[in-house]
Amino acid sequence: MKGQKCRCGFATVAERPRCPRCGKLMKPSEWPDEGKVLSFTKLHAIPEGFEDRYNLALVGLHKGPKVICWTSGILHEGDLVTIQERNGRYFCTLWTGLDFKMDAEQLKA
Ligand SMILES: [Zn+2]
Repeated sequence: MKGQKCRCGFATVAERPRCPRCGKLMKPSEWPDEGKVLSFTKLHAIPEGFEDRYNLALVGLHKGPKVICWTSGILHEGDLVTIQERNGRYFCTLWTGLDFKMDAEQLKA
């Protein structure tokens, strides 16, 4: 996950040349595509362009910024998720871990 970070500690995934908090120049930064759900909103109206039911989650990246993500599932505060960017929108899914996924594949075989 790419974004901008300031020396004052402010971080964002938005394109901002200057820090909105202190006005200094921001530096490009990168974080792992994993985070923790801080809050979750179930949408009752489906936004235009979405064929499926989508909800919104506010995800905090580890030592990084907070990102608003779309998700088709139901999440809870504290859930660990992975984030993917698609057409400028962020989507998150429950983080299951690579080892677990490999185990699941092996079980099917
Ligand atoms: Zn700053």
